[in-house]
Amino acid sequence: MKETIGFPRALLFYYYYPAWKTFFESLGQTCQVSGKTTKAMIDSGIKVTVDEACLPVKAFHGHVQSLSGECDRVFVPRLVSVEKKAYICPKLMGLPDMVRHNCTGIRQILDPCIDMSRNRKAFAKEVYTTGRLFTRNPLKISAARQKAEYTYEMFTRLLQAGLAPIEAMTKMNLHDAPDSWNSGTSHNAPAFEKAVGARPLVIGLLGHPYIIYDSFLGMNVLDRLKLMRANVVTMDMLPPTMIEREAAKSRKRVFWTMGRKLLGAGYYFLRPGTVDGCLQMSAFACGPDSFISELLQQESARSQRKVPFMTIIVDEHTGEAGVHTRLEAFLDIAERSRPG
Ligand code: SF4
Repeated sequence: MKETIGFPRALLFYYYYPAWKTFFESLGQTCQVSGKTTKAMIDSGIKVTVDEACLPVKAFHGHVQSLSGECDRVFVPRLVSVEKKAYICPKLMGLPDMVRHNCTGIRQILDPCIDMSRNRKAFAKEVYTTGRLFTRNPLKISAARQKAEYTYEMFTRLLQAGLAPIEAMTKMNLHDAPDSWNSGTSHNAPAFEKAVGARPLVIGLLGHPYIIYDSFLGMNVLDRLKLMRANVVTMDMLPPTMIEREAAKSRKRVFWTMGRKLLGAGYYFLRPGTVDGCLQMSAFACGPDSFISELLQQESARSQRKVPFMTIIVDEHTGEAGVHTRLEAFLDIAERSRPG
């Protein structure tokens, strides 16, 4: 029977939706994505979650609630690990339990457990079990998985080439036209150069995908920087090998996948000559971000030729005007600090 699977447009949707959509559609199912994050969605998430939850988790609950009654199952994976000997934030490990407990009116939750910390066998088994919910044909499941893996590879290549996730999904016909609010990361450098007659500032932007690519949570930071004539480089554009090499400078290996990626990209951006300024967008109540921010502050303080570094922490009360003023001030500092 054909079912509609609902995808909350939040948390790691920005990385994994293309692969899962391909997988489910190959098995004859339909996928439906929740709308853009709004104040009403955040409020509805806040109502059902504990105060201590971080803003993105609250937003996720709001997205889930918005899908209530709209689909047969809501996709809420239990993300434990996506690579060997490294883990995803504990809040994502417990997400299906939180959603089950907090959200009412959801028909069914589809919660495959993704754990690649030891090997990929458990992952393959989980994908197979998920596929079995829709077909008894193992060959069909295997073909759907291969297609999904190929899609994921193509998608990450587009991210590295500089497209924002929604842009990349649109290019691959996996999503409707790009939303104006996250129309990408700037890649119109030549146009800008012509417009302002000088090399635009290049800003290295650090942040979880569900913050920097979500216009509401991330205060539209990509478009704001673009309008302020800055070019943006995100950590998704850096080669994974480079990120790993930089992250290895840390005395102790960071075993949170996203934290390590942020740290590696941050160390790279803080090297003189790479970017003109490094900006971190972080969510209030995010434990992993708080220590990454501290390590980057220390690195920035150590450098002799400093690359300006700033962290903006967003929560449900953050105002656009305040963020805008801080960005303007940051770009002024970056402009003054750049060599010659
Ligand atoms: S990494 Fe931070 S922002 Fe992301 S889910 Fe965990 S606590 Fe929340």
